[in-house]
Amino acid sequence: MAEQKATNITWHGGQIGRAEREGVLGQQGVTIWLTGLSGSGKSTIAVAAEAELVNRGKLAYVLDGDNVRHGLNKNLGFSPEDRTENIRRIGEVSKLFTDSGIIVFTSFISPYRSDRDEARALFDQGDFLEVHVATDLETCEERDPKGLYKKARAGDIPEFTGISAPYEAPDKPELVIDTAKLSVEESVIALIDMLQQRGKLPSS
Ligand code: ADP
Repeated sequence: MAEQKATNITWHGGQIGRAEREGVLGQQGVTIWLTGLSGSGKSTIAVAAEAELVNRGKLAYVLDGDNVRHGLNKNLGFSPEDRTENIRRIGEVSKLFTDSGIIVFTSFISPYRSDRDEARALFDQGDFLEVHVATDLETCEERDPKGLYKKARAGDIPEFTGISAPYEAPDKPELVIDTAKLSVEESVIALIDMLQQRGKLPSS
């Protein structure tokens, strides 16, 4: 739990609430939290789902691990403490985006169950949908899209999830997607089905 440093601060509410914003957008805000090993397909399916939703006239946005580490979280590394702080900030950002009415996909390994649970705890019931991209390590390592597994096996990357750092699978994710079995298109359909079943998107 991050420490509250500032005192004498009060929450300032606006004149416009989430429902009004969602009315303007004609949609409901939600965070789809993708978790899984490097190379499991999180970014690929998040980007494809974002495109599909925007093509349907819905405002979606991907918060991606590497991208966020270029800016907001550029001062964080991969130690357990930094990974926790990385996820805490992403949780807070995705909560703000969700409150603004946007359909958010977060694409982070987020290996620790407790960090994901803390992120979930920031949200109202039903606004945080955890998706385990459960592609097996062997497949991820075979794909190795960024050459990271090769480097990790050679000992060039310490604390690499799945090799030299743990990955804690979710106990009760809202959805499990195994991209060794589903194509990108099928994975996108599974995500959209989930949003429809949970009343976050109208059924087509
Ligand atoms: P992550 O974001 O989980 O690290 P990426 O999406 O960056 O994973 O990488 C996944 C890699 O696997 C990409 O190179 C992608 O083209 C490939 N891939 C092959 N089949 C699939 C699939 N069915 N779903 C998602 N990615 C796939």
